[in-house]
Amino acid sequence: MALIDLQNISKVYQMGDDPKNTFKALDDVNLKIEKGEYVAIIGPSGSGKSTLLQILGLLDPPSSGSYKIHNIETTKLSDNELTTIRSQKIGFIFQMFNLLSRISAKENTMLPMIYQRGKVDGARADAILGQLGLDQHTGHTPSQLSGGQQQRVAIARALVNNPEIIFADEPTGNLPQAQAIEIVSELERLHQEEGMTLVIITHSNDLAGRADRVVRIVDCKITEDRRQNNTQPPDLKAEQLHLTTSSPFNPKLWLQTFKMALQTMFRNKVRTFLTMLGIIIGVFSVVSMLAIGEGAKKSVEHELRRLGSSLFRVKSVWPKIKGASTQKRTITYINEGDLAALQKLISTSSKVKNISAIREGKGTLTFEGYSYSSKIAGVSPSHRDMRGNVPSHGRFFDETENKNQARVIVLGQTVYKQLFKDEQNPIGKVVKLNNKNYRVIGLLPPKGTSWGGDVDDVVYIPEQTALKRLFGKQNYGHFFIQAAGDQTLDGAIEEVSQVLRQRHKIGKDMENDFQIKNYGEIKNTVDKISGTMIKLISIVALISLIVGGIGIMNIMLVSVTERTREIGIRKAIGAKSRDILNQFLIESVLIGLCGGAIGVILAYITGTILENIMLWEIEFKPYGIIVAFLFSVFTGVFFGLYPAQKAAKLSPIKALRYE
Ligand code: ADP
Ligand code: MG
Repeated sequence: MALIDLQNISKVYQMGDDPKNTFKALDDVNLKIEKGEYVAIIGPSGSGKSTLLQILGLLDPPSSGSYKIHNIETTKLSDNELTTIRSQKIGFIFQMFNLLSRISAKENTMLPMIYQRGKVDGARADAILGQLGLDQHTGHTPSQLSGGQQQRVAIARALVNNPEIIFADEPTGNLPQAQAIEIVSELERLHQEEGMTLVIITHSNDLAGRADRVVRIVDCKITEDRRQNNTQPPDLKAEQLHLTTSSPFNPKLWLQTFKMALQTMFRNKVRTFLTMLGIIIGVFSVVSMLAIGEGAKKSVEHELRRLGSSLFRVKSVWPKIKGASTQKRTITYINEGDLAALQKLISTSSKVKNISAIREGKGTLTFEGYSYSSKIAGVSPSHRDMRGNVPSHGRFFDETENKNQARVIVLGQTVYKQLFKDEQNPIGKVVKLNNKNYRVIGLLPPKGTSWGGDVDDVVYIPEQTALKRLFGKQNYGHFFIQAAGDQTLDGAIEEVSQVLRQRHKIGKDMENDFQIKNYGEIKNTVDKISGTMIKLISIVALISLIVGGIGIMNIMLVSVTERTREIGIRKAIGAKSRDILNQFLIESVLIGLCGGAIGVILAYITGTILENIMLWEIEFKPYGIIVAFLFSVFTGVFFGLYPAQKAAKLSPIKALRYE
């Protein structure tokens, strides 16, 4: 049984896209090669020598005929099985060396071991390179080596998996005569010492003369096949061929692939960054908007906890006119009469506990040459307890001061700091409010911010003083009313509403000219707004992730085209389609991952700035970050898959021919 047995092999190339435009490169070739033979293939240029050797090397399938190696019919095998045979049994040496230009001689030599998923033995690579006289050059990249040295590296690479057969396609065609003899002598030594089968294409009659057997091809047919130099066909037994594929998981291969992906990314820094930009923007917007939304929600909850959920607010609104009624509606603004009536209600009702009337406006405060404009809140004395406005120094005003329209004032922290630059005790001092003297009776403790606003930027005066002396108004802006407890809230709202409807003479089917809102409703509104915001942002994020993904796909397609030759080399020396797929996929996933990470970091930085400088409340939730991250990885996989598959499907020989 011959090691290699070709029967009626033909190869027809299709030229371009037209299936009718074909070219026959091999016609009905029959050839047997025994284990341990040394065969030279000769013939004029274009006669089909390379085509034959590529078929022999399992790099390209024949168009018809049968090719058995170890009695296994190769034309029926899958791509993966062919690759397995190739990386176990066959070493292929090209005229063009075909080394990977970015890695060292040693790394080039080790690649077939890595792809074969067996033991990766650096010492063996060193030993083979040493035998070929390259011990000083193992760390050099191909561009740092001469042509002869590069071809030696290629030979080392072909030998590293200890193949049974070496196919060499004009291995010395690009080298000067002296080097050519040396290289061929190396191959002959392997043939003699280790019984390696050697098949060499050559133009040189000298080199052909050294072989045991010469096969001549002319016009796509074998025209001559003779033994020479008085040799007999060797009688060696072929080793067993294992088609079993070893485990698909190979840490060394993954590590290598990972390293390569990183190198590619770093080599094209600007390009990689621009590709990531879509992902960065998408992830940044999702994470930061979620954090702002969550922060807003939290600050509302804070407020609610501070106020208690039993509070509600009454304010005047223009009533809607119901149905087709032509009746003209008027509005009665909430006023002192209403306040008195509600105070009366409080004294009798078990459901309503407290009320504060509020009239707010702006005013200018001055003290010893300092001047500051702030919010002026005229409120009832009960405001102190209802809203937790307990001064840290001095006191709040009382009912008598309110009735007397006393010119007394309680300062918020911000106002205090603006007016009392030397931080002296303000209690008892007289400040001017809109040019009228007011005596400071209290100073509130700092309360911080809420909703991005400064809660401390306010002063309090009695509501009567505000209405009659400061603003000259008849009505209040709103009432704060406190129910006896959470359970009585609905009842309290009902009772207050009754009183006001009666006082404002609102008929049975008429709309109220006031609006009552409790804090639960305010919270719901905020939740709704932030929900809508999150939806909107998600759409924006999704769009930018898609755009980013298309960017990744585009660049990966370019990358596949750029690296077609590299893919061809890798496949020729034993990379499976899956390995190539992984290589490109890892790269696109890394782009997605890095983009996601940068997006998250940027969002964090922005959040921290907003929190510390703009005093916004920001809340980063882990789920948002994780989801954004997973999304960017998914984008990398999804949009990287097509280019990666395109690369994986390339036939090694077509890829190697690519210019
Ligand atoms: P040799 O190595 O003997 O010089 P080849 O085997 O490379 O010749 O090529 C044999 C013939 O087949 C040539 O005429 C070449 O142009 C043609 N050929 C080789 N590869 C292809 C291909 N992929 N598509 C079309 N024609 C090809
Ligand atoms: Mg050729």
